[in-house]
Amino acid sequence: LTTRRLYYDDSVTRSFEARVAERLVHSGRPALVLDQTYFYPTGGGQPCDLGTINGVAVVDVFTRPDDLAVVHVLAGEISVEQVAAEIDWPRRFDLMQHHTGQHILSRAFINVAEAMTVGFHLGEDSLTIDLDTPAISLETLDQVENLANQIVFENRPVTARIVSKEEFETLNVRMRKLPDHLATDGLRVVEIGGFDQTACGGTHVALTGAVGLIKVIKMDRHGQESRVEFRCGQRALLDYRQRNRVTNQLASDLTTAVSELDQAVGRLRDDFKLASSSLKSTQERLIIYEADALLEQAVSANGLQVVQAVFENRDSAELRMLASRLVASPGHVALLGAAGEKSQLVFARSADLSLDMVVALRLALQGLGSDRGGGRPEFAQGGGVPASTSQIEQALRSVQESFSAQG
Ligand SMILES: [Zn+2]
Repeated sequence: LTTRRLYYDDSVTRSFEARVAERLVHSGRPALVLDQTYFYPTGGGQPCDLGTINGVAVVDVFTRPDDLAVVHVLAGEISVEQVAAEIDWPRRFDLMQHHTGQHILSRAFINVAEAMTVGFHLGEDSLTIDLDTPAISLETLDQVENLANQIVFENRPVTARIVSKEEFETLNVRMRKLPDHLATDGLRVVEIGGFDQTACGGTHVALTGAVGLIKVIKMDRHGQESRVEFRCGQRALLDYRQRNRVTNQLASDLTTAVSELDQAVGRLRDDFKLASSSLKSTQERLIIYEADALLEQAVSANGLQVVQAVFENRDSAELRMLASRLVASPGHVALLGAAGEKSQLVFARSADLSLDMVVALRLALQGLGSDRGGGRPEFAQGGGVPASTSQIEQALRSVQESFSAQG
């Protein structure tokens, strides 16, 4: 029993009839072996075809290793002997475009860059070729793309034939590794007219024009190899459309031309750096005034000058700056808090005092129900839990009371 694989000689038929040769259960699902099929089973880097048999969804198609029968796994039972099958054509055509595109691209990498394909992956989300070289320059990559697309524009024929082992040895075949089932069926060579010959059991378009645009969109180094991500045909169009929308939107936002986006972003980055540093120095100057105003409201307690202040959602870096300024002169303690989703407490004391701010912080954090915080005797910081202004005020008051008690 060997399923006749009709897709070898005809990759455009999408509906066909067949006879059930065997019924089985695979991973808890009903499955059929047919006497003949156009369904491509997963293998050789190409995912399987999907579709329906008598209206029941085909969820997986694979080659059974022991007898090489093609197994169609179904979403439900089929009890009749004669079935009508339909292949999900948009999916199949997409895979044919990319599989043929991959053959063209792999040969173009050899001809232009002497880079051999050592692996490839055709998937729903990712389409990649692995090359045996760690790096290819952008200029070389452009030449590879140009050659690949020239082969598309010339609309060359793509043909498959079975050759003898002797003839196979004489051919300039790119990939010599064949899927297992081809070992019994003979050696299948796929030729892209006058450009490439490779051993392959997959499905391909009949003319290179049907591949459409071939575009490399990304290249990453993987050790001594590199991975090339590419798009063909419909997926290249979708990718172009999306990138076009994004760049047009960015150009409109930055009121510039798409070709000048990089300079515009560069200017934006420089402006941002300048603005950030100017903002920082302004903040530092403002903090001095703010600290002076707060110092006037300092409360005396047991010989300490205690400054207490609560803010809404204030940046913790600013709180630290303010605290340092407040305790610059002797005898001061700063108890600062910021209310919000991630409340902050910053406690500091002048160098001449011996109070432990870490102890004070722990006491305040207890009141907020947090244990996140720490620091040094002269400076401590913590918080991170949601807290309202009145909760923070309450926590600071308890610390201040503890100072009075210690006196
Ligand atoms: Zn192929």
